[in-house]
Amino acid sequence: MDTNSKEIVVASPRGFCAGVVRAIATVENALEKYGRPVYVLHEIVHNKHVIANLERKGAVFVQSLEDIPSGELCIFSAHGVSREIEKKAQEYGLRTVDATCPLVSSIHRIVENYDRNGYEIVIIGHPKHPEVEGTAGRVNCSVHVVSNVAEAESLTLKQPEKSGFVTQTTLSQDDIVRIREVLSRRFPSIRSSKSNTCYATQNRQDAVKKLAQKVDVVLVVGSKNSSNSNRLREVAEESGIPAYLIDDASDIEANWLVDAGAIGVTAGASAPENLVNEVVDWIAEQWPVTLQEMEGEEKKIFFKPAALG
Ligand code: SF4
Repeated sequence: MDTNSKEIVVASPRGFCAGVVRAIATVENALEKYGRPVYVLHEIVHNKHVIANLERKGAVFVQSLEDIPSGELCIFSAHGVSREIEKKAQEYGLRTVDATCPLVSSIHRIVENYDRNGYEIVIIGHPKHPEVEGTAGRVNCSVHVVSNVAEAESLTLKQPEKSGFVTQTTLSQDDIVRIREVLSRRFPSIRSSKSNTCYATQNRQDAVKKLAQKVDVVLVVGSKNSSNSNRLREVAEESGIPAYLIDDASDIEANWLVDAGAIGVTAGASAPENLVNEVVDWIAEQWPVTLQEMEGEEKKIFFKPAALG
């Protein structure tokens, strides 16, 4: 064992948000009520350990509605779906349960309202992310998706005086501020709701900023396709220290940590807490450690699991 001891600082808050807890509980409740298999369109949340665990229990994750036999139960993921998907599921004779996070559903209501009132719609977000695809698909008109400042600078609106934007829930708050500034400067009449970054994204980003002031390197537990986990890694890096996104302890490379006196650990909103504990245990197996949990709690938010009908 290396005698170079480490201080581990664990961020707070971190890990599961209310929308993820609700989505997982919805799948588990469906398995309990109807037995296996229960089909889920796309990953219920973006975490490979959560997916593997639910697969062991009998969930089947599919990329397309065509992969689900008629009459079976289909759960829509926490990221939400378009109207077209809802309609197709009906046509295919599927029974559906909607595990869309209520905070995403509230953004659906905003864009639907924009559409009803004839607004041109801009979504600040990543075009291929299922949440953005679902939100864009709630309306009949075409929408503009802007993912960075350069795209905001080159955006062309047909009716800038009657336009509005929403933001993806899991973006970096700092990126949103920069993009909003450009949109508001170029299209002074553009309407916005307040930022749609959700409480969990915001709180975890605030915590990782504080964490980055105290440590030499940050490990973010989360899957590669998890938007909010990627943003946590970027936020830590923007604070000037190296940060790594890891699915679990087996992804850690000792050379990332060897020169660090203090190591920060956090987890994205879809990453289970046992993985954080395993990361701490892994570090403690390599070096003598002291462990400290940052102060910081978030208001307890709870969403009832989706009704199964
Ligand atoms: S990250 Fe936010 S929007 Fe996404 S599921 Fe969690 S609470 Fe809902």
